[in-house]
Amino acid sequence: MIDFEIPQETKAIREKVRTFVQEHCIPAEAELENRAYEDVLAELRSKARSQGLWCPFIPEEYGGMGLRPLANALVQMELGESFLGALSLNTQGPDDATMLTLLEHGTDFQKEKFLKPLLEGQKRICYSMTEKAAGADATGMQTRAILDGDNWVLNGEKWFSSSASVADIAVVMAKTDPDAPRHQQYSTFIVELPNPGYQIVRNIETMTPHTPIGEKLGGTHSEIKIKDLMVPRENILGGQGKGFDMGQHRLAYGRLRHGMHNVAMAQRALDLAAKHVTGRTTFGTRLADRQGVQWMLADCASELYMARLMLLHIAYKAEKGMDMRQENSIAKVFLAHMVHKVVDTALQLHGALGYSHDTPLARWYTSIRSQRLVDGPDEVHRWRVGRNVVKAYEQFGTTASAAGGDLL
Ligand SMILES: Cc1cc2nc3c(=O)[nH]c(=O)nc-3n(C[C@H](O)[C@H](O)[C@H](O)COP(=O)(O)OP(=O)(O)OC[C@H]3O[C@@H](n4cnc5c(N)ncnc54)[C@H](O)[C@@H]3O)c2cc1C
Repeated sequence: MIDFEIPQETKAIREKVRTFVQEHCIPAEAELENRAYEDVLAELRSKARSQGLWCPFIPEEYGGMGLRPLANALVQMELGESFLGALSLNTQGPDDATMLTLLEHGTDFQKEKFLKPLLEGQKRICYSMTEKAAGADATGMQTRAILDGDNWVLNGEKWFSSSASVADIAVVMAKTDPDAPRHQQYSTFIVELPNPGYQIVRNIETMTPHTPIGEKLGGTHSEIKIKDLMVPRENILGGQGKGFDMGQHRLAYGRLRHGMHNVAMAQRALDLAAKHVTGRTTFGTRLADRQGVQWMLADCASELYMARLMLLHIAYKAEKGMDMRQENSIAKVFLAHMVHKVVDTALQLHGALGYSHDTPLARWYTSIRSQRLVDGPDEVHRWRVGRNVVKAYEQFGTTASAAGGDLL
C-alpha cells in the first residue's frame, strides 16, 4: 500500500520554499559578483527566518521547522535549484547530517555547547572520517585515539574533509578499541577549531575548479594532519565504540539529501535546456521542434520522474518508520547518475554556451561527478543491493521485496 497524497499544509510549505528560491536565492547568485558573500547570505537568511523558513527537519523546540520526512524531501527538492538555497535555510551539507547526529546522540552538554550555535547558523561543522588509507571500507581507518587522564589524544591523518576550511567544529572518527569487533573499534570526537592538533595541510585541487566564492561556501575538501590532538573526555559523541554506527546513520541522511538536491538541480537544468531550445534556431528550425531534441528532453523528463517517485516512496517509508536501506542504496546510485545525465544533456543542448561559465551547467557537471563516489561509491551500494536480491530470492522464492515489491 502506498499513499502519495500530499497534505495541503505540506504543499503550502513547498510553495513557500519554491517562491523563496526562485525570487531570492537564484537572483542572489548573480549578486555575488559585486557584493560580499557574507552580506548576501546574511540578507537571505534573515529573509528566510522572517518567513519561518529555517532548518527544515530540525524539531520546532530546537528552532527548526519540524518537518517530517515527506515535507522535508519536498522542500529539499526545491532548495537544490540554487547553491544558495540550502545555505539560506541553514540546511547545507555536510553540516545538516552532523546536526542530526548531534541531536540524536549528543549529551545535554554537547547539544548546548556545539549544536546550539550550529542551529543558529553562527557556526559550521565538518566531518572527518575518510583517510588515504580507507574510504569505502572505513574499517581500515588508522587514526588512533588513546585516553590520557581526562583527555583523548588523537594521531593520524584525514582527507577529503569537506568544508573543513570554513568549519568551527570538526567531528573526527578514530580507533579507540583495536581489540573490539571490527565495527566497534571506532569512536567519534567533537573537536573545536582552530586547533593546533588538527591542521589543514592543503585544500585538495579537484575536478571542480577552485574559486574564492566556492571556498567561502564550504566547497573545499581538505587534507588534515592530526598530531597530538587533545580532546576532552566529555567530547566523545554517542559513547565509546559507537563511531561506526553513528557514521552510517549520518551518511544515510546525507545520501538522501544529495539525491533530493540532485532532483532540484536536474529540474533547473531541464528548465534551462527548454528555455534555450525554444529560443534558438539552427538550419531554419527551432531546436525545440526537432524530434531528436524532443527525445533528449523526454529522456531527461523520464529520469526526473523516476527520481521523484523514488524519493517519495522513500519518504513514505520513513514516515511509517519502515526499513528503507535497500531503497536508499538503489536511489543513491540512481539519483547520482540521473543528475549527471540531465545536466550533461542540458549542457549539450546549450552548445559552447553550456561549456562556458555563463550558465551554472559547466560547474554542476564537474561537481556532480563526485556523487558516484561520496557516501559510498556506486559499486558498494550495488553490491549490497545485489546481495539483498539473492537473499530475498532464497528466503521468499521471489526477488520482489528487494525490488520495490512492497509498492504493490
Ligand atoms: C567531493 C568529495 C567530498 C567528500 N567529503 C567527505 C567528507 O566530508 N568527509 C569524509 O570523511 N569523507 C569525504 N569524502 C570521501 C568519500 O567518502 C570517499 O571518497 C568514499 O567513501 C570512497 O572512498 P575512497 O575514495 O577511499 O575509495 P576506495 O575505498 O579506495 O574505493 C575506490 C573504488 O573502488 C571501488 N570499490 C570499492 N569497494 C568496492 C567493492 N566492495 N566492490 C566493488 N568495487 C569497490 C569503487 O569503484 C570505488 O570508487 C569525500 C569525497 C569526495 C570525492
